[in-house]
Amino acid sequence: MQSHIIALIAGDGVGPEVTREAVKTLSAVGLVFGHDFVFVEARAGGAAIDQDGEPLPKKTLEICKNCEAVLLGAVGGSKWDCMPIEKRPERALLGLRKELGLYANLRPAKLHIELTGACPLRREIAARGFDMLVVRELTGGIYFGESGRTTSNGFSKAWDTESYDENEIRRIAEIAFGAAALRRGKVTSVDKANVLESSRLWREIVADVAKKYPGVELSHMYVDNASMQLIRDPGQFDVILASNMFGDILSDEAGQLTGSIGMLPSASLSLGGPGLFEPAHGSAPDIAGKNMANPIASILSAAMLLRHALGMAAEAALIEAAVGLTLAEGYRTADIAIDGGTFVGTDEMGGRIAENLSRASQF
Ligand code: NAD
Repeated sequence: MQSHIIALIAGDGVGPEVTREAVKTLSAVGLVFGHDFVFVEARAGGAAIDQDGEPLPKKTLEICKNCEAVLLGAVGGSKWDCMPIEKRPERALLGLRKELGLYANLRPAKLHIELTGACPLRREIAARGFDMLVVRELTGGIYFGESGRTTSNGFSKAWDTESYDENEIRRIAEIAFGAAALRRGKVTSVDKANVLESSRLWREIVADVAKKYPGVELSHMYVDNASMQLIRDPGQFDVILASNMFGDILSDEAGQLTGSIGMLPSASLSLGGPGLFEPAHGSAPDIAGKNMANPIASILSAAMLLRHALGMAAEAALIEAAVGLTLAEGYRTADIAIDGGTFVGTDEMGGRIAENLSRASQF
């Protein structure tokens, strides 16, 4: 049996609690399909600052680079908030993105029909449901462009530059079209082409990539309209393709519509190297150590790892089905217990999902 080596960075706060449940689920999937997953533990964030004196030790990077994928919990906490910015736990995330070349961020936002009550939209909109994927460019654009500040005669000026080259746009567009081809075949490319030159290039290159995918329908939408449409009719979206900053904002907006950050997985992909799979939430210090965190975001991140890093689509779909089944049975962690149901802790939710894998495989 071939072993699949996965770097496991549990991190801080609820990180270790939720990744424990993701590992439980992956091990259960391994039993169903006959795969051997080997987890190599590594430290990052506050845990690494305490033990190794830095948020992203060299040894951790080495482990990550030599694995097929990285499964991360979360990093950060008030204990380390007093540290200088470059020594804070969150620097580990930026370091991992840079060192692993993670240029594509995938954030699915799906409203499970059982959780419509947790969606902040009007009931009749929520009842129509939605299932979208935000594909965000992660290593370019204004967050990495030229920036600066000058002060002259007591008057200050600052600037940040949005800049994309065609290769950066092409490779993220390929990810979006590839994903859409396996979903409902629709890409909405978001830009501000009525104002920004970088957006006009974005639009041209995206349209060029679209020619390779005749089965995928492309539409363009200005970012201000996209943020309105997400609230008005989220069900219209399949794959949203966006630059670093637009994707950052829209993926949070889309995520909030699902009702809880505890439901949101993410994947960050590189060109051929290991990807990083983590829940969209942080270390949630307010509920850490209380067995209250929702492990579903971490479990669904493990499903993304199977699909994107190991090419195991059936295995990933089985996890997603088991999550759906467990929600349909009425089990709820505190964050999603809006309409009642059976209240469970982190470990029981994870355990029930792992148990439901074999039942879900019979459907
Ligand atoms: P957060 O996501 O940790 O928490 C925001 C709110 O959501 C809290 O009320 C929390 O209890 C709740 N929540 C988060 N995850 C949950 C889960 N799985 N189940 C149920 N409820 C959940 O964001 P924050 O409070 O802004 O940040 C806390 C710390 O996490 C900070 O140190 C921050 O820098 C760090 N952070 C880390 C990451 C990461 O590791 N990727 C991301 C964001 C924030």
